[in-house]
Amino acid sequence: MLAGKDGRVTHHYKIANIVATEGTHLANFDEAKFAHLQTLSPEERADIAFVMDARDMSLALKDMRRQGLELQVIYHSHPHSPARPSLTDIKIATEFEATRVVLNLPEPLHLIISLEKKDAPATAVFRIVNGTVTPVSYQTL
Ligand SMILES: [Zn+2]
Repeated sequence: MLAGKDGRVTHHYKIANIVATEGTHLANFDEAKFAHLQTLSPEERADIAFVMDARDMSLALKDMRRQGLELQVIYHSHPHSPARPSLTDIKIATEFEATRVVLNLPEPLHLIISLEKKDAPATAVFRIVNGTVTPVSYQTL
């Protein structure tokens, strides 16, 4: 997660990917994908999917509040595919909306880093609201 103020990111929070944890129940995946994930090693699982650890998220959000920061961006990488939200990404982002409203958090943007071309990583930022994906421009300072 990336946080900051006034549309500017200043802080980075590392959140564990629980897809890599053995025996995790992954409610966000359909049965076929879940069955496929079960056949893979934790490393292979983390390579194709992600679900953020709820405890890490909660600690990060608490620290943001303490420092007067806002959650601005949720990012993850695509080790083998382009920097575009997958159907699962869109589903997870849309489901996060409900939690976000309950927790009174600002709407985060979604940054995807593609490592498809190892020597030329690509990044792209999106708004994902109600299943609709809109590219967002950004700059690095
Ligand atoms: Zn993704």
